Amino acid sequence: MNKKTSIRHTLSCADNTEPGLLSVEQAEQRIFDLIRPLHCPERVDIRHALGRTLTADVHSTINVPSHTNSAMDGYAIHAADIPADGTTQLTLAGTALAGKPFTGSVKPGQCVRIMTGAKLPDDCDAVVMQEQVEVEGDSIRIDARHRAGENVRQAGEDLALGQTAIPAGKCLQASDLGLLASIGMGEVSVTRSLRVAFFSTGDELRPVGSRLAAGELYDSNRYTLHGMLQCQDVELIDMGVIADKPDDLAAALRSAAQVADVIITTGGVSVGDADYVKDVVAELGKVDFWKLAIKPGRPLAFGALGNALFFGLPGNPVAVMVTFYQFVQPALRNLLGQKELRPFRFQVASAAAIRKRPGRTEYQRGRLDSAADGRLQVSLTGAQGSGILSSMSAANCFIVLAAEQGSVKPGDPVTVEPFHGLL
Ligand code: AMP
Ligand code: MG
Repeated sequence: MNKKTSIRHTLSCADNTEPGLLSVEQAEQRIFDLIRPLHCPERVDIRHALGRTLTADVHSTINVPSHTNSAMDGYAIHAADIPADGTTQLTLAGTALAGKPFTGSVKPGQCVRIMTGAKLPDDCDAVVMQEQVEVEGDSIRIDARHRAGENVRQAGEDLALGQTAIPAGKCLQASDLGLLASIGMGEVSVTRSLRVAFFSTGDELRPVGSRLAAGELYDSNRYTLHGMLQCQDVELIDMGVIADKPDDLAAALRSAAQVADVIITTGGVSVGDADYVKDVVAELGKVDFWKLAIKPGRPLAFGALGNALFFGLPGNPVAVMVTFYQFVQPALRNLLGQKELRPFRFQVASAAAIRKRPGRTEYQRGRLDSAADGRLQVSLTGAQGSGILSSMSAANCFIVLAAEQGSVKPGDPVTVEPFHGLL
């Protein structure tokens, strides 16, 4: 009698209906649940504070501007002298320059020549632009178009004394350095930079500069990671390529855990015979291995090794970038104490049809540009396989297609996440 053979239905990455896949939101929540933001403030010169994270609210200790001043080159006047109609003549009482105020008094019927930024004389409450007056020797003539308060910048109108100038958790941008300087602060307290150790795994990987034998490929993930991490407030610890050998992986992970706040690996987290990363991490620390309902980037390992957080990213180059931006970057920002964790998204019309099956959230590679009518539109950057890094290089945004969403028709609105601020 023939033995009955059964073919077990094995699930593959192409399967969109696999039960037990974790959603993006669930995975993100589990990551945030494990994170405790660092409390390691250090003081830095504001010139070195770009991209650093503020540890405490900065309050303004002065009014900015500190005095009411002129927004124009012209003449400071009493608004009461503005004629109801016709014109009126005002006599020049003196001059006020930026940094050299006029200290006398300005009587009704008088005016003061004033330059942009100069302190407004105490009695005056309007500045008339020099282009709008007729100069007649030591006096000027103005007409009826002027109003009280015109061309005057009020003391404290930028920052009032005691006001929060910049909130804790802000990742400082160029304008913040200037804002700190405007209240006289030359130093600021920021969270120390994160230490992130990372390495690639794979026997097939060769370093750039060497020759490839059959079946080998250059290790590109480590350079992509280098670039993505460099845009964060991170001290990079590049540990090279580690072979698919449990002992080598364990040694690398142990030494990474001693120095790093976060460990990132790529490759070796799938279900292949040489995929040891998750087992080794499970032995040394704790690890959750997730099959995510996303495409690309389905397998992701997340856990902890000692005090370090661990992210085992997939090996495929596009999947590395998608999982980094969707899960690692928000985690790094959270660790730093930042409040804005995710890049912003908006909706825009798709220039062409996009094929998609419901089931998983997809991060397709898109290019935002202006259509002939000037409106923003997005198109795909060619083949969307998870190994096609050139699709990422040609892109300037992700097109984020929600799990339940099906195919997109030309002109349909789709959600995009621009790379500006990502990369
Ligand atoms: P793995 O999950 O380790 O099986 O990796 C999946 C695929 O990603 C491999 O077959 C490689 O083609 C590719 N890959 C893995 N690591 C790298 C890397 N560091 N650089 C470029 N491609 C990689
Ligand atoms: Mg591998």
